[in-house]
Amino acid sequence: MNKYVERVINEVKVKYATEPEFVQTVEEVYSSVSPLIDAHPEYEENAILERMVIPERVVMFRVPWEDDQGNLHVNTGYRVQYNSAIGPYKGGLRFAPSVNMSIIKFLGFEQTFKDALSTLPIGGAKGGSDFDPNGKSDKEVQRFCASFMQGLFRFIGPDVDCPAGDLGVGAREIGYMFGAWRRLTASYANGALSGKDPLFGGSAFRPEATGFGAVYYLQEVLKHENDPIEGKRVAVAGFGNVSWGVCRKLAELGAKAVTLSGPDGYIYDPDGITTQEKIDYMLEMRASGRNKVQDYADKFGVQFFPGQKPWGQKDVDIIMPCATQNDVNMDEAKKIVANGVKYYIEVANMPTTNDALRFLMDQKNMIVAPSKAVNCGGVSVSALEMSQNSERLFWDGEEVDKWLHKIMKGIHDSTAAAAERYGLGYNLVAGANLASVEKVADAMIKQGRAF
Ligand code: GLU
Repeated sequence: MNKYVERVINEVKVKYATEPEFVQTVEEVYSSVSPLIDAHPEYEENAILERMVIPERVVMFRVPWEDDQGNLHVNTGYRVQYNSAIGPYKGGLRFAPSVNMSIIKFLGFEQTFKDALSTLPIGGAKGGSDFDPNGKSDKEVQRFCASFMQGLFRFIGPDVDCPAGDLGVGAREIGYMFGAWRRLTASYANGALSGKDPLFGGSAFRPEATGFGAVYYLQEVLKHENDPIEGKRVAVAGFGNVSWGVCRKLAELGAKAVTLSGPDGYIYDPDGITTQEKIDYMLEMRASGRNKVQDYADKFGVQFFPGQKPWGQKDVDIIMPCATQNDVNMDEAKKIVANGVKYYIEVANMPTTNDALRFLMDQKNMIVAPSKAVNCGGVSVSALEMSQNSERLFWDGEEVDKWLHKIMKGIHDSTAAAAERYGLGYNLVAGANLASVEKVADAMIKQGRAF
Protein backbone atom coordinates (compact mmCIF):
# COMPACT_ATOMS: atom_id res chain seq x y z
CA MET A 1 0.00 0.00 0.00
CA ASN A 2 1.12 3.57 -0.68
CA LYS A 3 2.99 4.92 2.38
CA TYR A 4 0.99 8.14 2.57
CA VAL A 5 -2.32 6.23 2.46
CA GLU A 6 -1.08 3.86 5.15
CA ARG A 7 0.00 6.73 7.41
CA VAL A 8 -3.34 8.56 7.13
CA ILE A 9 -5.36 5.38 7.77
CA ASN A 10 -3.28 4.69 10.89
CA GLU A 11 -3.72 8.26 12.14
CA VAL A 12 -7.48 8.04 11.60
CA LYS A 13 -7.64 4.75 13.52
CA VAL A 14 -5.95 6.30 16.53
CA LYS A 15 -7.60 9.70 16.44
CA TYR A 16 -11.16 8.47 15.89
CA ALA A 17 -11.04 5.22 17.86
CA THR A 18 -14.41 6.05 19.42
CA GLU A 19 -16.06 6.32 15.99
CA PRO A 20 -15.85 2.76 14.59
CA GLU A 21 -18.20 3.12 11.60
CA PHE A 22 -16.38 6.27 10.52
CA VAL A 23 -12.96 4.57 10.78
CA GLN A 24 -14.35 1.60 8.83
CA THR A 25 -15.47 3.72 5.90
CA VAL A 26 -12.26 5.78 5.74
CA GLU A 27 -10.25 2.57 5.69
CA GLU A 28 -12.45 1.06 2.97
CA VAL A 29 -12.21 4.12 0.69
CA TYR A 30 -8.55 5.02 1.23
CA SER A 31 -7.17 1.50 1.10
CA SER A 32 -8.49 1.07 -2.43
CA VAL A 33 -7.08 4.30 -3.89
CA SER A 34 -3.38 3.51 -3.46
CA PRO A 35 -2.67 3.46 -7.22
CA LEU A 36 -4.31 6.86 -7.62
CA ILE A 37 -2.19 8.33 -4.82
CA ASP A 38 0.95 6.80 -6.37
CA ALA A 39 0.11 8.56 -9.62
CA HIS A 40 -0.57 11.94 -7.97
CA PRO A 41 2.23 13.09 -5.64
CA GLU A 42 0.51 16.48 -5.46
CA TYR A 43 -2.23 14.94 -3.30
CA GLU A 44 0.24 14.36 -0.49
CA GLU A 45 1.84 17.79 -0.99
CA ASN A 46 -1.62 19.31 -0.57
CA ALA A 47 -2.54 17.07 2.39
CA ILE A 48 -5.64 16.00 0.47
CA LEU A 49 -6.36 12.78 2.39
CA GLU A 50 -6.04 14.51 5.78
CA ARG A 51 -8.24 17.40 4.62
CA MET A 52 -10.94 15.10 3.26
CA VAL A 53 -11.24 13.30 6.61
CA ILE A 54 -12.22 16.42 8.56
CA PRO A 55 -15.67 17.83 7.77
CA GLU A 56 -15.81 21.44 6.67
CA ARG A 57 -18.42 22.07 9.38
CA VAL A 58 -20.32 20.10 12.02
CA VAL A 59 -23.55 21.28 13.59
CA MET A 60 -24.91 19.51 16.66
CA PHE A 61 -27.97 20.71 18.53
CA ARG A 62 -30.60 19.65 21.00
CA VAL A 63 -34.12 18.82 19.84
CA PRO A 64 -36.71 19.03 22.61
CA TRP A 65 -40.22 17.85 21.73
CA GLU A 66 -43.45 17.09 23.56
CA ASP A 67 -45.24 13.75 23.30
CA ASP A 68 -49.04 13.50 23.19
CA GLN A 69 -49.21 13.30 26.99
CA GLY A 70 -47.27 16.56 27.37
CA ASN A 71 -44.00 14.90 28.53
CA LEU A 72 -40.86 16.60 27.29
CA HIS A 73 -38.22 14.50 25.48
CA VAL A 74 -34.82 15.59 24.19
CA ASN A 75 -32.92 14.13 21.23
CA THR A 76 -29.66 15.13 19.59
CA GLY A 77 -29.68 16.65 16.10
CA TYR A 78 -26.70 16.53 13.71
CA ARG A 79 -25.63 17.96 10.38
CA VAL A 80 -22.15 17.14 9.18
CA GLN A 81 -21.30 19.31 6.17
CA TYR A 82 -18.45 17.28 4.78
CA ASN A 83 -17.19 18.68 1.56
CA SER A 84 -18.50 21.37 -0.79
CA ALA A 85 -15.65 21.43 -3.32
CA ILE A 86 -18.01 20.30 -6.08
CA GLY A 87 -21.25 22.05 -5.08
CA PRO A 88 -23.62 22.85 -2.20
CA TYR A 89 -23.75 20.17 0.48
CA LYS A 90 -26.31 17.48 -0.32
CA GLY A 91 -27.35 14.38 1.55
CA GLY A 92 -30.04 12.85 3.68
CA LEU A 93 -31.30 13.16 7.23
CA ARG A 94 -31.62 9.91 9.17
CA PHE A 95 -34.00 9.50 12.13
CA ALA A 96 -33.15 6.27 13.97
CA PRO A 97 -32.19 5.37 17.55
CA SER A 98 -28.76 4.18 16.35
CA VAL A 99 -27.77 7.63 15.06
CA ASN A 100 -24.61 9.08 16.61
CA MET A 101 -21.61 11.12 15.43
CA SER A 102 -19.78 8.07 14.07
CA ILE A 103 -22.76 7.01 11.94
CA ILE A 104 -23.40 10.51 10.60
CA LYS A 105 -19.71 11.04 9.84
CA PHE A 106 -19.38 7.75 7.96
CA LEU A 107 -22.49 8.56 5.96
CA GLY A 108 -21.30 12.13 5.24
CA PHE A 109 -17.84 10.96 4.17
CA GLU A 110 -19.37 8.37 1.81
CA GLN A 111 -21.89 10.91 0.56
CA THR A 112 -19.13 13.21 -0.65
CA PHE A 113 -17.82 10.52 -2.98
CA LYS A 114 -21.26 9.25 -3.97
CA ASP A 115 -22.33 12.76 -4.90
CA ALA A 116 -19.14 13.21 -6.91
CA LEU A 117 -20.05 10.10 -8.92
CA SER A 118 -23.50 11.49 -9.71
CA THR A 119 -21.88 13.85 -12.29
CA LEU A 120 -24.07 16.65 -10.87
CA PRO A 121 -22.62 19.69 -9.03
CA ILE A 122 -23.27 18.67 -5.42
CA GLY A 123 -21.07 18.33 -2.35
CA GLY A 124 -21.59 15.86 0.50
CA ALA A 125 -23.32 16.12 3.89
CA LYS A 126 -25.41 13.99 6.20
CA GLY A 127 -27.51 14.64 9.26
CA GLY A 128 -30.29 13.36 11.43
CA SER A 129 -31.18 12.49 14.95
CA ASP A 130 -31.37 9.57 17.39
CA PHE A 131 -35.17 9.99 17.34
CA ASP A 132 -37.17 6.83 16.55
CA PRO A 133 -40.23 7.64 14.42
CA ASN A 134 -41.58 4.08 14.78
CA GLY A 135 -44.60 3.98 17.05
CA LYS A 136 -44.87 7.78 17.28
CA SER A 137 -48.16 9.53 16.48
CA ASP A 138 -48.38 11.83 13.51
CA LYS A 139 -48.58 14.85 15.81
CA GLU A 140 -45.48 13.75 17.71
CA VAL A 141 -43.56 13.39 14.45
CA GLN A 142 -44.79 16.83 13.44
CA ARG A 143 -43.63 18.43 16.68
CA PHE A 144 -40.28 16.68 16.45
CA CYS A 145 -39.73 17.81 12.83
CA ALA A 146 -40.59 21.43 13.66
CA SER A 147 -38.17 21.45 16.59
CA PHE A 148 -35.46 19.75 14.53
CA MET A 149 -35.79 22.39 11.83
CA GLN A 150 -35.58 25.15 14.41
CA GLY A 151 -32.14 23.83 15.32
CA LEU A 152 -31.03 23.41 11.71
CA PHE A 153 -32.50 26.19 9.58
CA ARG A 154 -29.70 28.74 10.03
CA PHE A 155 -27.15 26.35 8.56
CA ILE A 156 -28.88 25.21 5.36
CA GLY A 157 -30.33 26.81 2.22
CA PRO A 158 -30.49 26.19 -1.52
CA ASP A 159 -26.94 27.44 -2.21
CA VAL A 160 -25.51 26.14 1.05
CA ASP A 161 -26.90 22.73 1.94
CA CYS A 162 -29.97 20.86 0.72
CA PRO A 163 -30.97 18.03 3.10
CA ALA A 164 -33.24 15.17 2.02
CA GLY A 165 -34.56 11.89 3.43
CA ASP A 166 -32.82 8.73 4.59
CA LEU A 167 -33.87 5.98 7.02
CA GLY A 168 -36.90 7.16 9.00
CA VAL A 169 -37.31 10.31 6.92
CA GLY A 170 -39.74 10.12 4.01
CA ALA A 171 -42.03 12.57 2.22
CA ARG A 172 -44.14 13.06 5.36
CA GLU A 173 -41.20 14.14 7.54
CA ILE A 174 -39.74 16.28 4.74
CA GLY A 175 -43.15 17.99 4.42
CA TYR A 176 -43.28 18.84 8.13
CA MET A 177 -39.69 20.09 8.10
CA PHE A 178 -40.33 22.14 4.98
CA GLY A 179 -43.40 23.74 6.58
CA ALA A 180 -41.25 24.70 9.56
CA TRP A 181 -38.53 26.02 7.24
CA ARG A 182 -40.97 28.28 5.38
CA ARG A 183 -42.27 29.69 8.62
CA LEU A 184 -38.83 30.27 10.15
CA THR A 185 -37.32 31.87 7.05
CA ALA A 186 -40.48 33.46 5.61
CA SER A 187 -39.32 32.09 2.28
CA TYR A 188 -39.73 29.22 -0.16
CA ALA A 189 -36.00 29.57 -0.95
CA ASN A 190 -35.96 27.35 -4.02
CA GLY A 191 -37.33 24.40 -2.16
CA ALA A 192 -34.52 24.17 0.43
CA LEU A 193 -35.13 20.44 1.08
CA SER A 194 -35.45 17.69 -1.51
CA GLY A 195 -37.77 14.72 -1.44
CA LYS A 196 -40.77 17.06 -1.10
CA ASP A 197 -44.24 16.10 -2.24
CA PRO A 198 -44.69 17.06 -5.92
CA LEU A 199 -47.57 19.30 -4.79
CA PHE A 200 -45.03 21.84 -3.52
CA GLY A 201 -41.97 21.40 -5.69
CA GLY A 202 -40.95 17.79 -5.21
CA SER A 203 -39.65 15.88 -8.18
CA ALA A 204 -41.76 13.23 -9.85
CA PHE A 205 -40.18 9.85 -9.36
CA ARG A 206 -38.12 10.58 -6.21
CA PRO A 207 -39.66 7.67 -4.21
CA GLU A 208 -38.74 5.24 -7.00
CA ALA A 209 -35.34 6.74 -7.78
CA THR A 210 -32.98 4.85 -5.43
CA GLY A 211 -34.49 1.40 -6.03
CA PHE A 212 -34.98 1.85 -9.77
CA GLY A 213 -31.48 3.32 -10.10
CA ALA A 214 -30.01 0.31 -8.28
CA VAL A 215 -31.69 -2.06 -10.74
CA TYR A 216 -30.50 0.03 -13.72
CA TYR A 217 -26.99 -0.36 -12.35
CA LEU A 218 -27.53 -4.11 -11.95
CA GLN A 219 -28.69 -4.25 -15.58
CA GLU A 220 -25.37 -2.75 -16.70
CA VAL A 221 -23.45 -5.34 -14.66
CA LEU A 222 -25.47 -8.17 -16.19
CA LYS A 223 -24.99 -6.70 -19.66
CA HIS A 224 -21.25 -6.69 -19.03
CA GLU A 225 -21.48 -10.40 -18.17
CA ASN A 226 -23.80 -11.23 -21.11
CA ASP A 227 -26.26 -12.62 -18.60
CA PRO A 228 -30.02 -11.90 -18.98
CA ILE A 229 -31.95 -10.33 -16.09
CA GLU A 230 -35.11 -12.30 -16.91
CA GLY A 231 -35.75 -15.09 -14.43
CA LYS A 232 -33.10 -13.96 -11.92
CA ARG A 233 -33.97 -14.58 -8.25
CA VAL A 234 -32.86 -11.85 -5.89
CA ALA A 235 -32.43 -11.87 -2.10
CA VAL A 236 -33.39 -8.39 -0.92
CA ALA A 237 -32.89 -7.14 2.64
CA GLY A 238 -35.04 -4.38 4.13
CA PHE A 239 -38.66 -3.60 3.33
CA GLY A 240 -38.62 0.19 3.10
CA ASN A 241 -38.78 2.61 0.27
CA VAL A 242 -35.59 1.47 -1.44
CA SER A 243 -36.53 -2.23 -1.35
CA TRP A 244 -39.96 -1.32 -2.69
CA GLY A 245 -38.40 0.36 -5.75
CA VAL A 246 -36.02 -2.56 -6.26
CA CYS A 247 -38.84 -5.16 -6.11
CA ARG A 248 -41.00 -3.13 -8.49
CA LYS A 249 -38.32 -2.64 -11.13
CA LEU A 250 -37.10 -6.26 -10.89
CA ALA A 251 -40.67 -7.45 -11.47
CA GLU A 252 -41.07 -5.12 -14.43
CA LEU A 253 -37.94 -6.58 -16.01
CA GLY A 254 -38.94 -10.21 -15.50
CA ALA A 255 -36.73 -10.92 -12.45
CA LYS A 256 -38.02 -11.43 -8.92
CA ALA A 257 -37.17 -10.49 -5.36
CA VAL A 258 -37.74 -13.56 -3.17
CA THR A 259 -36.82 -12.25 0.28
CA LEU A 260 -37.42 -9.16 2.44
CA SER A 261 -36.07 -8.52 5.92
CA GLY A 262 -36.83 -6.41 8.97
CA PRO A 263 -35.58 -6.10 12.54
CA ASP A 264 -37.73 -9.14 13.42
CA GLY A 265 -36.36 -11.58 10.79
CA TYR A 266 -36.85 -12.34 7.10
CA ILE A 267 -39.53 -13.73 4.79
CA TYR A 268 -39.05 -16.08 1.82
CA ASP A 269 -41.56 -15.87 -1.00
CA PRO A 270 -40.51 -18.39 -3.70
CA ASP A 271 -43.09 -16.98 -6.16
CA GLY A 272 -41.47 -13.57 -5.86
CA ILE A 273 -42.66 -10.16 -4.72
CA THR A 274 -43.97 -9.46 -8.16
CA THR A 275 -47.70 -8.73 -8.06
CA GLN A 276 -49.12 -5.25 -7.61
CA GLU A 277 -50.85 -6.41 -4.43
CA LYS A 278 -47.59 -7.56 -2.84
CA ILE A 279 -45.67 -4.48 -3.89
CA ASP A 280 -48.41 -2.16 -2.59
CA TYR A 281 -48.50 -4.09 0.66
CA MET A 282 -44.85 -3.17 1.26
CA LEU A 283 -45.90 0.49 1.43
CA GLU A 284 -48.68 -0.40 3.85
CA MET A 285 -46.27 -2.31 6.11
CA ARG A 286 -43.92 0.67 6.23
CA ALA A 287 -46.70 3.19 6.82
CA SER A 288 -48.12 1.12 9.70
CA GLY A 289 -45.07 2.03 11.82
CA ARG A 290 -44.98 -1.53 13.22
CA ASN A 291 -41.57 -2.16 11.63
CA LYS A 292 -42.28 -5.92 11.30
CA VAL A 293 -41.67 -7.91 8.11
CA GLN A 294 -43.60 -10.85 9.59
CA ASP A 295 -46.75 -9.00 8.53
CA TYR A 296 -45.93 -9.96 4.92
CA ALA A 297 -45.65 -13.67 5.79
CA ASP A 298 -48.96 -13.55 7.70
CA LYS A 299 -50.73 -11.82 4.83
CA PHE A 300 -49.43 -13.95 1.94
CA GLY A 301 -48.89 -17.27 3.73
CA VAL A 302 -45.14 -17.57 3.09
CA GLN A 303 -42.32 -18.66 5.41
CA PHE A 304 -41.01 -16.31 8.11
CA PHE A 305 -37.61 -16.86 9.73
CA PRO A 306 -37.60 -15.03 13.07
CA GLY A 307 -34.36 -13.31 14.08
CA GLN A 308 -32.58 -14.36 10.87
CA LYS A 309 -31.13 -12.54 7.89
CA PRO A 310 -31.76 -13.72 4.32
CA TRP A 311 -28.08 -14.35 3.45
CA GLY A 312 -28.24 -18.11 3.94
CA GLN A 313 -31.24 -18.45 1.60
CA LYS A 314 -30.61 -21.01 -1.14
CA ASP A 315 -31.66 -20.72 -4.82
CA VAL A 316 -30.81 -17.07 -5.29
CA ASP A 317 -28.66 -15.57 -8.05
CA ILE A 318 -28.24 -12.04 -6.79
CA ILE A 319 -27.91 -10.41 -3.36
CA MET A 320 -29.15 -6.84 -2.80
CA PRO A 321 -28.83 -5.60 0.81
CA CYS A 322 -31.14 -2.55 1.00
CA ALA A 323 -31.47 -2.22 4.79
CA THR A 324 -28.68 -0.57 6.79
CA GLN A 325 -24.95 -0.63 7.59
CA ASN A 326 -23.04 -3.79 8.51
CA ASP A 327 -25.91 -6.12 7.60
CA VAL A 328 -23.51 -8.67 6.08
CA ASN A 329 -20.56 -9.84 8.18
CA MET A 330 -17.95 -12.53 7.56
CA ASP A 331 -20.15 -15.48 8.60
CA GLU A 332 -22.93 -14.33 6.33
CA ALA A 333 -20.54 -13.63 3.46
CA LYS A 334 -19.35 -17.25 3.74
CA LYS A 335 -22.93 -18.51 3.43
CA ILE A 336 -23.44 -16.35 0.33
CA VAL A 337 -20.33 -17.82 -1.29
CA ALA A 338 -21.27 -21.37 -0.27
CA ASN A 339 -24.62 -20.91 -2.03
CA GLY A 340 -22.87 -20.08 -5.30
CA VAL A 341 -24.26 -16.55 -5.67
CA LYS A 342 -22.56 -14.63 -8.48
CA TYR A 343 -23.69 -11.03 -7.96
CA TYR A 344 -23.38 -9.07 -4.72
CA ILE A 345 -24.92 -5.65 -5.31
CA GLU A 346 -24.73 -3.34 -2.27
CA VAL A 347 -27.64 -0.92 -2.07
CA ALA A 348 -27.78 0.40 1.53
CA ASN A 349 -24.86 2.56 2.65
CA MET A 350 -21.95 0.34 3.81
CA PRO A 351 -24.08 -2.82 4.26
CA THR A 352 -20.95 -5.00 4.40
CA THR A 353 -18.22 -5.14 7.04
CA ASN A 354 -14.76 -4.49 5.57
CA ASP A 355 -13.48 -8.04 6.09
CA ALA A 356 -16.63 -9.51 4.49
CA LEU A 357 -16.34 -7.11 1.56
CA ARG A 358 -12.69 -8.10 0.94
CA PHE A 359 -13.64 -11.79 1.21
CA LEU A 360 -16.45 -11.41 -1.34
CA MET A 361 -14.24 -9.41 -3.71
CA ASP A 362 -11.56 -12.10 -3.51
CA GLN A 363 -13.93 -14.75 -4.89
CA LYS A 364 -13.07 -15.55 -8.51
CA ASN A 365 -16.66 -16.01 -9.62
CA MET A 366 -18.26 -13.14 -7.80
CA ILE A 367 -18.98 -9.60 -8.93
CA VAL A 368 -19.31 -7.02 -6.17
CA ALA A 369 -20.83 -3.59 -6.77
CA PRO A 370 -20.45 -0.80 -4.17
CA SER A 371 -23.31 1.14 -2.61
CA LYS A 372 -21.87 4.57 -3.32
CA ALA A 373 -22.39 3.86 -7.03
CA VAL A 374 -25.44 1.58 -6.88
CA ASN A 375 -27.64 3.80 -4.68
CA CYS A 376 -26.59 7.06 -6.31
CA GLY A 377 -29.90 7.36 -8.19
CA GLY A 378 -31.62 8.73 -5.09
CA VAL A 379 -29.37 11.69 -4.54
CA SER A 380 -29.13 12.27 -8.29
CA VAL A 381 -32.88 12.73 -8.60
CA SER A 382 -32.70 14.97 -5.52
CA ALA A 383 -30.18 17.13 -7.36
CA LEU A 384 -32.54 17.22 -10.33
CA GLU A 385 -35.24 18.41 -7.91
CA MET A 386 -32.95 21.29 -6.92
CA SER A 387 -32.56 22.20 -10.60
CA GLN A 388 -36.30 22.03 -11.25
CA ASN A 389 -36.99 24.23 -8.20
CA SER A 390 -34.49 26.89 -9.18
CA GLU A 391 -35.85 26.99 -12.72
CA ARG A 392 -39.50 26.83 -11.53
CA LEU A 393 -40.03 23.79 -13.71
CA PHE A 394 -41.68 20.45 -13.23
CA TRP A 395 -40.47 17.48 -15.25
CA ASP A 396 -42.78 14.52 -15.61
CA GLY A 397 -41.80 11.06 -14.37
CA GLU A 398 -40.80 9.91 -17.82
CA GLU A 399 -38.31 12.76 -18.19
CA VAL A 400 -36.79 12.14 -14.74
CA ASP A 401 -36.57 8.39 -15.40
CA LYS A 402 -34.71 9.07 -18.64
CA TRP A 403 -32.13 11.17 -16.74
CA LEU A 404 -31.87 8.57 -14.00
CA HIS A 405 -31.20 5.82 -16.51
CA LYS A 406 -28.52 7.87 -18.23
CA ILE A 407 -26.86 8.80 -14.93
CA MET A 408 -26.77 5.21 -13.66
CA LYS A 409 -25.31 3.90 -16.90
CA GLY A 410 -22.74 6.71 -16.81
CA ILE A 411 -21.76 5.83 -13.23
CA HIS A 412 -21.34 2.17 -14.07
CA ASP A 413 -19.26 2.90 -17.15
CA SER A 414 -17.04 5.57 -15.60
CA THR A 415 -16.28 3.53 -12.48
CA ALA A 416 -15.54 0.40 -14.53
CA ALA A 417 -13.25 2.49 -16.74
CA ALA A 418 -11.41 3.94 -13.70
CA ALA A 419 -10.58 0.44 -12.42
CA GLU A 420 -9.49 -0.61 -15.90
CA ARG A 421 -7.21 2.45 -16.14
CA TYR A 422 -5.34 1.36 -13.02
CA GLY A 423 -5.02 -2.24 -14.25
CA LEU A 424 -7.56 -3.64 -11.79
CA GLY A 425 -9.94 -5.25 -14.28
CA TYR A 426 -13.69 -5.21 -13.66
CA ASN A 427 -13.33 -4.09 -10.03
CA LEU A 428 -16.36 -1.86 -9.45
CA VAL A 429 -15.58 -1.21 -5.77
CA ALA A 430 -12.09 0.12 -6.44
CA GLY A 431 -13.32 1.90 -9.57
CA ALA A 432 -15.96 3.88 -7.64
CA ASN A 433 -13.42 4.94 -5.02
CA LEU A 434 -10.75 5.83 -7.57
CA ALA A 435 -13.08 7.90 -9.77
CA SER A 436 -14.71 9.79 -6.93
CA VAL A 437 -11.64 10.49 -4.80
CA GLU A 438 -9.85 11.78 -7.89
CA LYS A 439 -12.70 14.12 -8.73
CA VAL A 440 -13.01 15.59 -5.23
CA ALA A 441 -9.22 15.85 -4.82
CA ASP A 442 -8.77 17.68 -8.12
CA ALA A 443 -11.62 20.08 -7.31
CA MET A 444 -9.98 20.84 -3.94
CA ILE A 445 -6.53 21.41 -5.44
CA LYS A 446 -7.91 23.75 -8.08
CA GLN A 447 -9.47 25.86 -5.28
CA GLY A 448 -6.22 26.36 -3.37
CA ARG A 449 -4.64 25.16 -0.17
CA ALA A 450 -6.60 27.27 2.28
CA PHE A 451 -9.75 25.15 2.82
N1 GLU B 1 -30.14 9.61 1.81
C1 GLU B 1 -30.02 9.36 0.42
C2 GLU B 1 -28.59 9.03 0.09
O1 GLU B 1 -27.90 8.47 0.88
C3 GLU B 1 -30.53 10.51 -0.41
C4 GLU B 1 -29.82 11.79 -0.20
C5 GLU B 1 -30.44 12.94 -0.99
O2 GLU B 1 -31.40 12.72 -1.71
O3 GLU B 1 -29.90 14.07 -0.86
O4 GLU B 1 -28.08 9.24 -0.97
